[in-house]
Amino acid sequence: MNKLTQPTTLPNKLSGFGDNVFSIGTMRNYLSEGAYRSLAATLVQGDAIDPAIADEVADAMKTWALEKGATHFTHWFQPLTGATAEKHDSFFSPDGEGGVLARFSGRELTQGEPDASSFPSGGLRATFEARGYTAWDPTSPAFIKETNGVAVLCIPTIFCGYHGEALDKKTPLLRSGHALAQQFKRMAKLFGLDASGRAYATLGPEQEYFLIDRQHLARRPDFCQTGRTLFGRLPARHQQMEDHYFGNIKPRVLAFMAEVDSELWKLGVPAKTRHNEVAPGQFEIAPVFEEQNLATDHNMLVMTVLREVAEKHGFACLLHEKPFAGINGSGKHNNWSVTGPDGKNWLSPGDTPHDNAKFLATVCAIVAGVDTYAELLRATVATAGNDHRLGANEAPPAVISIFLGEQLSDIIAQLHNGGAKSSKHGGTIQVGVSTIPSLPRDVTDRNRTSPLAFTGNKFEFRAVGSNQSCAGPNVALNTIVTWGIDTVCSAIEKRLAGGDEFNTALGSVLKQLFKKHQRVIFDGDNYSQAWRDEAARRGLPCAMTTPKALEVLARADTAALFVKYGVFSERELLSRHDIYADTYEKTIMIEAECALRIARTQLAPAGLAYAAELRAAGQAAPVSKLAKRVGNLNVKLLAAADKLETAIAKEQPAQALVAMAAARAAADELEALVPAEQWPLPTYAEMLFAC
Ligand code: ADP
Ligand code: MG
Repeated sequence: MNKLTQPTTLPNKLSGFGDNVFSIGTMRNYLSEGAYRSLAATLVQGDAIDPAIADEVADAMKTWALEKGATHFTHWFQPLTGATAEKHDSFFSPDGEGGVLARFSGRELTQGEPDASSFPSGGLRATFEARGYTAWDPTSPAFIKETNGVAVLCIPTIFCGYHGEALDKKTPLLRSGHALAQQFKRMAKLFGLDASGRAYATLGPEQEYFLIDRQHLARRPDFCQTGRTLFGRLPARHQQMEDHYFGNIKPRVLAFMAEVDSELWKLGVPAKTRHNEVAPGQFEIAPVFEEQNLATDHNMLVMTVLREVAEKHGFACLLHEKPFAGINGSGKHNNWSVTGPDGKNWLSPGDTPHDNAKFLATVCAIVAGVDTYAELLRATVATAGNDHRLGANEAPPAVISIFLGEQLSDIIAQLHNGGAKSSKHGGTIQVGVSTIPSLPRDVTDRNRTSPLAFTGNKFEFRAVGSNQSCAGPNVALNTIVTWGIDTVCSAIEKRLAGGDEFNTALGSVLKQLFKKHQRVIFDGDNYSQAWRDEAARRGLPCAMTTPKALEVLARADTAALFVKYGVFSERELLSRHDIYADTYEKTIMIEAECALRIARTQLAPAGLAYAAELRAAGQAAPVSKLAKRVGNLNVKLLAAADKLETAIAKEQPAQALVAMAAARAAADELEALVPAEQWPLPTYAEMLFAC
């Protein structure tokens, strides 16, 4: 029998991982012991940075960056455009003797003053007070971004106005993480746990995307300008065979994925899984989860790296939520959990009754929070792109509900039905801490249709759009859960003050809250009409479009929630409403203008030319029948174009959407009749199957 020879050394470290990150490990080689300890504490504990060490840290970072070939640094921030922003400054300044000196001060590291007048501020800042400030967020380490061989030191920063008003997505994320931590510490204390450690939210965002061959872009003005196809007919074969999901990855795509992974690893992004998704040309990448703020920054880097590496490989990476009509769109599964001050995942059912009580209290807080603020959660995924996806038969619907799985739902049903009953899997459940039995590790099954699903040790918010920053949805999740934990704690404290024993108090609070908010729990098929009807009966809110969904951001009760936990001031929140509503309208109007141009200058001419050809081809019945059909479609297309023009002139996005759909319907039918070589746009079949 052949024996397998064991290699003596197996490489179990990934060489290159984090090479471009000024991580705690790297710092050790560049800082004095004192500065190192101080900065490491800032990173690990989330303490404020000690200004006394800023100069030394900056100098160390500069030395490291120069060694890595960087000549410039930038404060890397996330304005309300939803993208990342950077403005490069070189380290060098004249030395007065005809040469230059590399300098980088503590002040340059910790604070920048970009002219902010061209970033959306939603009325937070008038142009005359255009100054914006960026400030280092030391909890997200500096990194070196290499693009085409150009290395730049990037320093993650927040971005705010003169009076400290948040002009970005990171500031509220940090604030909401802070609020969440406070409430979890409070709950830990109530549970008699050591609350001295740090509590923080964790995030693992799964990212979906499409690849098409780059050559098609030049001939698709819609892709170039709007990120999606405004016209295009489904080919005979698309995703019916269900053979793409987890299918064999084509060599060219695999080469791309391998380079994406290695670029991300250099940046310290723990990219973990890669696979083909449901639609042809669609793929997914997912990292190992990290602390939420870092994971959010890393997801921004994932999107950037995907786009850049795609270009190198002759692909275009499409991150739009719905690049192709009739074919699955792309989302971002936002896996959210929380690590308590005891260092444990509080959404992980544990081995002891005590752990399980903690777990159920956390689930209860989430259920109560999500039911109370479902509209807010819905608003955070409201974008023009996501409107095409949410509610289509592929992505969670616009009605927010929670999936808990059969067993957990059963336990909760028993809690509010009156306590001690037998669980589905045997054993006795009582409400009090000491009598909640161990729950099995895998207490959930899979449900792909729910917007917010409990998946064993985390909640997966599946409605997030592929192109969105994770920040917005997580600011809302954090704040909603903060409110939930606050509510649970306050209710328990009140009962304790009334003389209840802890277990009794906890039991009654959970029972009461689960009962009050059970309408938001739904384990069935969220795509079915039956659920839509049921949701309406339950009185669950359902905002089908972005403008409707965004309304909640302008409401006083929403402002009160954010103000209470110090996440947004009233003005900051209103500015978000205004910016997102404006972005929505602009997006639709750009699409409308682009569609009009394509319809009039490319598609209608092709249709009209073919109609003329057919008329010249004689009067035989099938020929004139076809000529009539083409002629009718041309008329429909041109009529829709006229309506589109009117909607654009009157700045009416809703009407523009209707006219665009009518133009598309006519054009997509024409596409099936006009000779292939005369059709001016690359077809879905050409674009979707190259990868
Ligand atoms: P899937 O949901 O596709 O089966 P996984 O169960 O592997 O995939 O998890 C998906 C994502 O959830 C991964 O990014 C993973 O790291 C992340 N995840 C796992 N545990 C947690 C947690 N405690 N907090 C946040 N994200 C988590
Ligand atoms: Mg998942």
